[in-house]
Amino acid sequence: MFVHVYEIIYYSNILSAKLVRLKLRCDFSRLTLTSIAYAVQFLYVPLLTMSAAAAIACTARRSTMSASVKVYQTVPEFREARKLLRKVDTDGKILPLLPDVGFVPTMGALHRGHLSLLKQAQQENDVVVCSIFVNPTQFGPTEDLDRYPRQLERDCELLQELGIEHVFAPSSVESMYSKYHVTSVDPGICFEQTEEGKSRPGHFKGVATVVTKLLNIVQPTRAYFGQKDAAQCVLIKRIVNDLNMNLDIIVGDTVREDDGLAMSSRNAYLSASERSAAPIIYQSLLKARELFQSKECVASCDLIDVVEQTLKTQPLVREIQYVSVDCRETMQTLTKVHYQEGAIVSLACRIGSVRLIDNIVLQ
Ligand code: AMP
Repeated sequence: MFVHVYEIIYYSNILSAKLVRLKLRCDFSRLTLTSIAYAVQFLYVPLLTMSAAAAIACTARRSTMSASVKVYQTVPEFREARKLLRKVDTDGKILPLLPDVGFVPTMGALHRGHLSLLKQAQQENDVVVCSIFVNPTQFGPTEDLDRYPRQLERDCELLQELGIEHVFAPSSVESMYSKYHVTSVDPGICFEQTEEGKSRPGHFKGVATVVTKLLNIVQPTRAYFGQKDAAQCVLIKRIVNDLNMNLDIIVGDTVREDDGLAMSSRNAYLSASERSAAPIIYQSLLKARELFQSKECVASCDLIDVVEQTLKTQPLVREIQYVSVDCRETMQTLTKVHYQEGAIVSLACRIGSVRLIDNIVLQ
């Protein structure tokens, strides 16, 4: 209600100002325009009073309960709401200014890793939008698309507790990809050739396409991604640069459990014994950091070896898919790492049947 009253005021004000400007410029229709301008200005006073009352009511409500989460299930629905977003001052008064919009894209099953990105977005923006969409095009045919955890209601409760008001959660795959959809964003061979790209053919193309779509839909000032998905962060920065997209990409640190396991929606698949074995992943990466810190220059094969040997001490690590040493900016493979330049060490392995990834930045 408040937004609507505000919108009437805001646009009648603009109309009034435009008419007054016209009134000054156009002599031949001065009389008619003058009357309309006065009529609009006359309406403006009672509307302003109503707006003030609504603002007080709105502020009072805000102080007693947290804002409720609005879930938009289709692109047109979100776009309509996006048009109405305005800056709000510290008293809760809506200002006629466009807000800085922070955006955190997710696939849901939210955990503290997602929440830390959302909190950072809240600190740095006027409005925060979270998207929840399990994007089928980034899953391979034998991957876990069907069993990926979906828990929108619980996610909305968490978002409500955090004070996030806008959730874009497409209700179906068709609401993101129409039956005529043919266009994709292909980051090409560079990303397909990373170890993660080789293990998941087509994954980065799926990610590049859906993130480009989401950024076009949400039109954020800043978008937030987690260091946990290191290659994804480099990819998104590349796309934003290559396609001249007008936003900043912010990378948040990986959030870990107390025992070092990186938070992930897939951790829920782990059995109790697998869960107790999983911290070996971060321990192996810490060994790589120790080695890096002990020398001026270290061969990548030695870093890989120390990670693999550590992982192999845990019998529940069923398969080491890769351990990779790459440039932090481009994800290109490095054969040696100089102390000054640093690197990123990434890995993917299976604990039981669960595929987990993690990385550590050497700097
Ligand atoms: P997902 O829902 O897995 O697609 O993740 C959504 C975003 O949250 C991505 O930018 C991830 O990199 C980020 N993210 C996932 N897990 C973590 C974590 N443990 N710490 C920080 N960011 C994370």
